[in-house]
Amino acid sequence: MRRAIYPGSFDPVTNGHLDVIERARKLFDEVVVAVAHNDQKQPLFTLEERLELLRATIGNMDCVQIAPLDGLLVDFAVQQRATAVIRGLRAVSDFEFEFQMALMNRKLEANVETIFLMPKEEYTYLSSRIVKEIGRLGGDITKFVPPKVVEAFRRKKSQ
Ligand code: ADP
Repeated sequence: MRRAIYPGSFDPVTNGHLDVIERARKLFDEVVVAVAHNDQKQPLFTLEERLELLRATIGNMDCVQIAPLDGLLVDFAVQQRATAVIRGLRAVSDFEFEFQMALMNRKLEANVETIFLMPKEEYTYLSSRIVKEIGRLGGDITKFVPPKVVEAFRRKKSQ
């Protein structure tokens, strides 16, 4: 049983994340999408909302689980008996931070390997941050996120 953790803020989940999940699913028997609290980033969607959007989008997908992530990623990986952490690499700009994280995680737990997956080219410019910016300014985000996320943005705006 090969299990991988795909951690992130998913604030909100985008088509880029979905692309990475699809790729990871081909490599592992099970992929646990782990949603970080991430108070430092002051998320737009609460943890529960982010989990719910993922459940509504990929909740029925075979071999995928969705879980909140608290504490150290490597501790969670060990607890889940996962052998790998999946991260997406969009551009060179992601590399420096991801490289540091991967090596630090290896120092903390040598048995968990970080694997980087590259999305389809059309998603390399896509991030939750930019989607939030477009959404905030009233732009069309339907090409970038799943339909449930579009609805969630509408609800947020009307609150
Ligand atoms: P974090 O706050 O951990 O960066 P994100 O939700 O922004 O969380 O991203 C989670 C992971 O998904 C990261 O590895 C990030 O690089 C990757 N990712 C985000 N957007 C994309 C995308 N469009 N294509 C590929 N990977 C992506």
